[in-house]
Amino acid sequence: MSFKVVNPANGTVLRVVDSWTEKQLDAALEQAAAAAPDWRALPLAERCRLLTRVGEVLRARREELARTVTGEMGKLIKEARGEVDKCAWVCDYYADNAPAFLADESIETDASRSLVAYQPLGTVLAVMPWNFPLWQVMRFAAPALAVGNTGLLKHASNVPHCAQLLEEVFLEAGVPAGVFTSLMIPSSMVARVIGDPRVHAVTLTGSEPAGKAVAAAAGQHLKKSVLELGGSDAFVILEDADLELAVDQAVASRFLNAGQSCIAAKRFIPVTAIADEFVERFRAKVEELQCGDPMDEATRLAPMARFDLRDDLHQQVVDTLAKGAVAVTGCMPQPGDGAWYQASILDRVEPGMRAYSEELFGPVAIVIRAADEADAVRIANASDFGLGGSVWTRDAARGEQVARRLECGCAFVNSLVKSDPRLPFGGVKRSGYGRELSLLGIREFVNAKTVWVR
Ligand code: NDP
Repeated sequence: MSFKVVNPANGTVLRVVDSWTEKQLDAALEQAAAAAPDWRALPLAERCRLLTRVGEVLRARREELARTVTGEMGKLIKEARGEVDKCAWVCDYYADNAPAFLADESIETDASRSLVAYQPLGTVLAVMPWNFPLWQVMRFAAPALAVGNTGLLKHASNVPHCAQLLEEVFLEAGVPAGVFTSLMIPSSMVARVIGDPRVHAVTLTGSEPAGKAVAAAAGQHLKKSVLELGGSDAFVILEDADLELAVDQAVASRFLNAGQSCIAAKRFIPVTAIADEFVERFRAKVEELQCGDPMDEATRLAPMARFDLRDDLHQQVVDTLAKGAVAVTGCMPQPGDGAWYQASILDRVEPGMRAYSEELFGPVAIVIRAADEADAVRIANASDFGLGGSVWTRDAARGEQVARRLECGCAFVNSLVKSDPRLPFGGVKRSGYGRELSLLGIREFVNAKTVWVR
């Protein structure tokens, strides 16, 4: 078995990487287990120093990493550079904050001394996707390794060079071999890794079917799991919104990374009073987004990461149009050799259409019109997903009230939803469970141990 990497901008085969044998996998699991005792025994300050070094190496190798990301999964080169910078930030953030986050917490009881001590769980497997092939990995790895866990990465099959480079970055920074290892295995070998006694927990970012498979395997072996799955974030535009700001941010949120982000705004929900004006202004801006070479600094819209993903998206659009939605702009694959899809808007989307209930993981915005604020909140919450959501109004207090009523893990007022190392990130409903980043993220893969002394 091998991984064939196809450049989504032109369809050429970039590389073919052999998948590991069972023997190679076993050797990697053994190396991780062997590295674990020394890594957890290192003083926390030393692990944090090494994490700072990882950030420095990321910055030093920024261009090489960014070009690899763009080559393998097609995002715009300037977005890839930004992704490298964000990875370095999360390293610095946990290097600076892990000592406070992991300090013993004394609790007064009838003991002479009682406290909570935060200790590593062991080896954590991360099953990661291709859409932010560096960031998704580093936001797991920085806190997990700071605690003293060792990490195993099973990356998506279309980004094997990104996976290899990440392992190189850790080694170059001085992190001992075995502390962070990229496993070159297909998804069919993941359940066996979860079941291995040398692995203690698993985290996955990806689709619902992959999440269910990983959570089932973790449950079967009674191992901790964290899931960050899809989303279909609502973008609620009230009648008192600053429409210019809302439209700019709507375009940025929906079309970043060719629309392939779990926290992209996907369902645009304007109230009747401003709906026509919002759609017209949105259309004008979206039509400025032209597909092009993602390595070219001037390109505004990247290809999708794979041809099959592009074709699946188009099928969702075709079905939705057949049920009566209106194509405002785009709604077709872009002719050419790459996996491009035109920047698109579907208006008048209603229950019963695929786009109403399914996640559209590509450059297609849908508009669901609402009568008023209450109706907009009802529509926003009429989704199986619950990752993020945003509300747009000039009245910040009103915005916060609406944000609190959204059934999701991250609600923003007058800003697109974004991840930030300082804030918890994760979802409710079918968007998964557990949290990444911030204090809560570093506490996911720990043994919060009660220590009680008479
Ligand atoms: P997948 O969920 O299939 O892939 C994500 C990761 O999970 C990859 O490493 C993949 O490995 C692995 N994986 C897939 N199936 C299993 C399994 N049964 N057991 C263990 N691991 C598994 O995403 P796709 O690439 O197929 O994208 C499909 C859809 O998933 C998108 O359209 C989008 O809706 C959603 N998605 C959500 C993301 C998010 O950020 N929340 C990111 C990416 C996708 P391999 O590549 O080898 O199959």
